[in-house]
Amino acid sequence: MSTRRYESWGRYPRARPAAVARVVWRSEPPPLDAWPQPVLPFGQGRSYGDSCLNEQGVLLDTSLLDRFISFDETAGILRCEAGVTLAAILELVVPRAWFLPVTPGTKFVSVGGAIAHDVHGKNHHRAGTLSRYVQQFELLRSDGTRLVCSPTLNADLYRATIGGLGLTGLILWAEIRLRPIPGPLIAVERIRFGGLDEFFELADASDREWEYTVAWVDCLAAGNKLGRGIFIRGDHAVHAPAGSTARHMPRLRVPFDLPRAALSRWPMRAFNAAYYRAQWRRSVRKTVHYDPFFFPLDAVLDWNRIYGRDGFLQHQCVVPRDREDAINEILRATARFGHASFLAVLKLFGDASSPGMLSFPRPGITLTLDFPFRGPRTLELLERLDAIVRQAGGAVYPAKDARMSRESFQQFFPNWQDFARYIDPRFSSSFWRRVVGGEAQGAA
Ligand SMILES: Cc1cc2nc3c(=O)[nH]c(=O)nc-3n(C[C@H](O)[C@H](O)[C@H](O)COP(=O)(O)OP(=O)(O)OC[C@H]3O[C@@H](n4cnc5c(N)ncnc54)[C@H](O)[C@@H]3O)c2cc1C
Repeated sequence: MSTRRYESWGRYPRARPAAVARVVWRSEPPPLDAWPQPVLPFGQGRSYGDSCLNEQGVLLDTSLLDRFISFDETAGILRCEAGVTLAAILELVVPRAWFLPVTPGTKFVSVGGAIAHDVHGKNHHRAGTLSRYVQQFELLRSDGTRLVCSPTLNADLYRATIGGLGLTGLILWAEIRLRPIPGPLIAVERIRFGGLDEFFELADASDREWEYTVAWVDCLAAGNKLGRGIFIRGDHAVHAPAGSTARHMPRLRVPFDLPRAALSRWPMRAFNAAYYRAQWRRSVRKTVHYDPFFFPLDAVLDWNRIYGRDGFLQHQCVVPRDREDAINEILRATARFGHASFLAVLKLFGDASSPGMLSFPRPGITLTLDFPFRGPRTLELLERLDAIVRQAGGAVYPAKDARMSRESFQQFFPNWQDFARYIDPRFSSSFWRRVVGGEAQGAA
């Protein structure tokens, strides 16, 4: 009997599946039409909202589908089952001087989950999304058909499955083209900036010269401090300065749900201000292991429990570059609301187009904010942020969403009806029923 929890990372909303089926063998997967309820693949539950949930449906747990199939060490081509995590891939390939071409901010996600959201990382301005490097995968449909999909084989299903929210079938395995690296270290520079204008100057200059860029923003600072933060840029390092190879990955675990008071406005404001001031020099250079650079949050296991029993919501949007004013407006609305956010992350997306029909990344500015769930007030604030994004012609990321309206989703992803033609008739999710519902029936 599995003790796995089938909840999303934000733990809001809660959803109870009618059943869970563990997929153990790619050669003998369970029949996907065995249940009267709709089915949905479940990877590592690292999505924040309900795109990995299936209230009263069946979840297909892929965590045992975790085998490597082949690795061409000369060409850097890795084939593995869809439940393999990015952490397991890095363990295997980094000692052999290869790296994932793109990685999100946690390595505890599965390959299938990463494809289904077409994840992006700190190098989007250079590399685009991970799926650009997914050469092929095998998709199992509920009628038992198995299809190898690539940019040239079953190309429509390939494009629908990338960023396809787990709705087009079950990915059994995938083949990824890796990138060579000189070693496990990253040369990093952290630079303090005082506001958004300075952020854009730094981002434009850094995106030309550096492979990885991202900025942390003190989203509780208001007035003339609005938009201040720390800009972080990095490159794979050739040489390791003495003493720099240590991994610095403390295995801390948040043992229980923290009480609400821990997240009240003043402690959070103090945390953000202290984080900003901790770097008193304008610029600091260091060489570090790739783990703390790419995955700082993974150092604390179950950190989502910091937000307490009620859970939390993340809001990640992208707006066109000429709508910087929208980012300002979102930060102002958040600061005014005093809605504590531990994390505010800002980055420029580049022009590389995503292969998926429903891929979220597009050229522009992306801002990510976390909010503890405080009932209707939180939902009202997030709807206000969505309205700013709608007005700016941007989009909100489904992997991070638990409550965007139907109207918002359909404006943000105008291809949704084309996409719906490729949905497997036995697949659905809490997210999809929320943002499309009955409208999908005719299209599917
Ligand atoms: C700390 C943190 C940082 C993050 N940083 C980033 C970031 O920088 N960039 C970014 O893009 N995302 C980021 N994310 C989001 C995360 O990368 C995505 O939500 C990812 O999809 C989660 O993968 P998972 O294996 O946990 O899948 P789940 O959350 O379990 O599922 C996600 C989707 O994938 C589908 N799916 C899972 N397995 C399969 C399969 N075998 N076949 C078909 N569909 C499948 C599910 O049905 C669901 O729709 C972050 C998440 C966290 C918690």
